[in-house]
Amino acid sequence: MTTKQLKRSDGRKANELRKMTAKVGVVPNADGSAMFSFGDTVAIAAVYGPRQLHPQHLQNPSTGILRCVYDLLSFSVYDRKRPGPSRRSNEISKVTGWALEPAVDLDAFPNTVIDVQIYILQADAGTRTAGINAASMALAHAGIPMRDLVCSVALGKIDKDLIADLTKEEEDFKEGEGATDFAIAKLATCDEFSLLQMDGKIQPEKVKEITKMAEETCKEIYEVQKKALKDVVESDMEEKK
Ligand code: UDP
Repeated sequence: MTTKQLKRSDGRKANELRKMTAKVGVVPNADGSAMFSFGDTVAIAAVYGPRQLHPQHLQNPSTGILRCVYDLLSFSVYDRKRPGPSRRSNEISKVTGWALEPAVDLDAFPNTVIDVQIYILQADAGTRTAGINAASMALAHAGIPMRDLVCSVALGKIDKDLIADLTKEEEDFKEGEGATDFAIAKLATCDEFSLLQMDGKIQPEKVKEITKMAEETCKEIYEVQKKALKDVVESDMEEKK
């Protein structure tokens, strides 16, 4: 990959996302569920609850709790991933909760927990962002009252060029200034970011450009999420006829 003239190995433009797919209602036993993919990165999310939180001493009488678990499935990555939690998955579970919480009306469900389980079926970078997109749709599908959907994407920089939705190959870019990876989450219809996580370095003047790219790409993600939610409502209505 040369940086004189930005050429991405999959032929995308700098601000172009990988092909997105989304489907709602993929786990019949869950209260809400969804799948979201960016190219070869595929995430599935299932929501259970709200239900009474046990043990009782963890209950909060003024609000519900959003409990997120993220993990890569063993076969999702080239080098088999050891099953079970790790420092990385614990961190991503935590930031996923932070990214989703501002959109969810937890005060409506005191003393309860809403469980959000996210598993990555295939990983090619951007797994936390695909997971947040899937989880946001799964919460809506479960009928949890929400202020907004949450849209998430990894933006970044290879050497000096800003790009959207990095692949693993791009994340591993080492030449020049190397790669910087910016995971962001944004409430879809208001000017509020709920996650900003950066791995690498970036010049302060480029942050404004990244924010603009975030706004534009989140709009595209929102359309995909809305369509998947509308499709499931329509197919449920069709079945009831
Ligand atoms: N990855 C891997 N094995 C692991 C963890 C990560 O192969 O145990 C790969 C996977 O493709 C993942 C990428 O490294 O998507 C980048 O991981 P990172 O921690 O930056 O999070 P992500 O970009 O997936 O949110």
